[in-house]
Amino acid sequence: MNCILCKANLVQGKVNHIVDLDGHIIIIKGVPANVCKQCGEYFIENDIALKLEKIIEEVIKNKAEIFVVNYSEMAA
Ligand SMILES: [Zn+2]
Repeated sequence: MNCILCKANLVQGKVNHIVDLDGHIIIIKGVPANVCKQCGEYFIENDIALKLEKIIEEVIKNKAEIFVVNYSEMAA
């Protein structure tokens, strides 16, 4: 898989994924992703993206404005 922006090779790594949704800022740390070494863009695979959606839903239910979670704790 190559980066859609700059076509460089992607490598497996971890990123801090930041979501800004309806006034909620959610920072999910340590999300496994394919990361572009050249431009820093990252791509999250579908099954992981689904888990992120569940985490985000929970946070919005709790009405937290700013929320920081660790992916490895929430997805276990
Ligand atoms: Zn790139």
